[in-house]
Amino acid sequence: MLHCYLEGLPLLYRKSVDTLSPYVPGFQPAMDGSVIKINSNENPYPPSPKVKELLGGFDFRQLRYYPDATSQPLRELIGAQHGLSSRQVLCGNGSDEVISLIFKVFFEQGDTVATPYPTYTFYKSVADIINVKVAFVDTAEDFVIDLQGLVNTGAKGIFIANPNAQTGRLLPLQSIEELLNRYNGLVVIDEAYIDFAGQQSSAVHLIGAYPNLIVLRTLSKSYSLCGIRVGFCIADESLIHAMDKCRDSYNVNHLSQIIAAAALSDQPYLETTVERVVRSRDKLEDELHKLGFTVYPSHANFLLCKPHQRSAADIYNYLKAQQIYVRHFDSPRLSDKLRISIGTEEEVESLLRHLRQYLGSDAAAHT
Ligand SMILES: *Cc1c(COP(=O)(O)O)cnc(C)c1O
Repeated sequence: MLHCYLEGLPLLYRKSVDTLSPYVPGFQPAMDGSVIKINSNENPYPPSPKVKELLGGFDFRQLRYYPDATSQPLRELIGAQHGLSSRQVLCGNGSDEVISLIFKVFFEQGDTVATPYPTYTFYKSVADIINVKVAFVDTAEDFVIDLQGLVNTGAKGIFIANPNAQTGRLLPLQSIEELLNRYNGLVVIDEAYIDFAGQQSSAVHLIGAYPNLIVLRTLSKSYSLCGIRVGFCIADESLIHAMDKCRDSYNVNHLSQIIAAAALSDQPYLETTVERVVRSRDKLEDELHKLGFTVYPSHANFLLCKPHQRSAADIYNYLKAQQIYVRHFDSPRLSDKLRISIGTEEEVESLLRHLRQYLGSDAAAHT
């Protein structure tokens, strides 16, 4: 461990920082033409052409002004799209910023939040910074989330990614409603992947009925806009008001605000790309089955799968040598599996070609 003691000076940062393990993002290879990057659940298709149009006509002189401090036009658009008021919406520099803000506003040292295992690892990274404890509640063998287990922790808040990160498992809306009916703490439903599951599964429909619910969304995945860092949350006005008081001023920059608005306004494009990704996901699932993998049912833009002929680590390394980057988590219940983001049709074909080659006759024996 690296300690930053300077001679003659006291420790300058909080002691607990020494033991933090920060969030580990997927490996970012230099992107030349032959690299296939399917390790961070990025969308393989470009953002809406409306974004290109907007940027082409953008007057750079506008950048000398501060952005709208509250992202008000964006809040109004998002509110209108969900039949809600802009006062029920807050925008952030990616949903990661909103997650950090939630911890800052709703929890303090010594509190506990509960979350399923496995899930998005960023929740724990943020909790650790402010010494909030995380109670992990193991999912079932097939990764179904144990809602009663989450309630039983007695935690002050519950974080659920739906569809869940790493697994792609979708919790039906009815289960979320049941959870809200018997739990009074804060419930955060992180819907980073909900567009791939279908809007009918969104907990946004429950806003209004449950003032302890926060629904998180991002433009990173389904809108192909990881690069601009825009996420938002929808919740009761009183919660949004509290969060607004603690947020950085100008937390969403001007370009990101207007790009996000352009992309959100192009719903037909969203539907087309989501359909393409879902079609490729279904095809990849079939083909992985044929290659002898166990594939977990996913409602997101990735598949979690378990190989049987070779170890997940071997396959990961083989693919990496071919410049195909998938995700391998060296953690309990995941180290024998791979998480593969859905690429373009060509990328999926290329992945399958390399897998068939590597697994060779072993694979044929399984079909
Ligand atoms: C990708 C992801 C995020 C982060 O989204 P950003 O808006 O890019 O910060 C949040 N939650 C989950 C579950 C994710 O997979």
